Amino acid sequence: MPDLIWINGEIIPMAEARISVEDRGYQFADGVYEVIRIYNGRTFTLTEHLERLKRSAEAIRIGVPLAIDTLGAEIRKLIDASGVREGMIYLQLTRGTCARNHLIPDQCKPTLLFYARALPPVAPPGQGEGARLLAVADERWKRCWIKSIALLPNVLAKSEAIAAGYDEAAFVENGIVTECAASNIFAVIDGKLVTHPVGSKVLPGITRAILLDCAANLEIEVDERPLREEEMTRAAELFITSTTREVSWVARWNDRYIGQGRCGPVTLALHRALQERVRAQSN
Ligand code: PLP
Repeated sequence: MPDLIWINGEIIPMAEARISVEDRGYQFADGVYEVIRIYNGRTFTLTEHLERLKRSAEAIRIGVPLAIDTLGAEIRKLIDASGVREGMIYLQLTRGTCARNHLIPDQCKPTLLFYARALPPVAPPGQGEGARLLAVADERWKRCWIKSIALLPNVLAKSEAIAAGYDEAAFVENGIVTECAASNIFAVIDGKLVTHPVGSKVLPGITRAILLDCAANLEIEVDERPLREEEMTRAAELFITSTTREVSWVARWNDRYIGQGRCGPVTLALHRALQERVRAQSN
């Protein structure tokens, strides 16, 4: 079966999809996106993702062309048509096509598309190799809570990390660890779960929010505050979270090993709790 895409209301083979060279997403990165997990042929936390999409779109003054419920139903239709059971939806909304001009045009019909991609299963909680993080300067803008398609600093940071033999780049600004190129970061310090507050420098990760809720249920004390870089190597545990990777325990920060060199108990308990939510809630 060919790869399918939902584009501006139609499901067609991906190879037949066409976007104008004057789409503002292409010319100005004028758009926002979402990545939504599919487990067992069903979406996970779809409403949370679509609400974040709406907030991101509103922040840059793009209207989501469908009501959130209708969009959710269209996404489910595409998943059924594409036959993906374990994977993700990539969704992109741009301002649309009009003659190139920096000024936001009054009349521009947004381009909305999404498609499903299969993903390999993540390692079971506590297993697999720990992630290696490379600290890089945070050169991003100050509205990182918007899930913008303008990802060049993230692309460069991640590529720098991979080229140097690491798995993910961790952004550091003025000695403060904010988040990673494509994930949120948590530390366990003095028995507390610590993570930077969301906002100008941190995306409100959907996985992050679920884990904070799981932490409350497990009576793990949470401290949302800026994390200093020197705290990273004395943390008992570090882990990173995202829709596609769920929870990855961190083995190394630059050239330093973290904790006991294996997944710690808090990381393990939280990843298991997340997977219980997945089993209970794929909607
Ligand atoms: N932070 C950044 C910069 C990201 O790109 C992502 C995911 O792509 C995340 C955090 C994690 O967000 P979520 O858990 O919603 O996937």
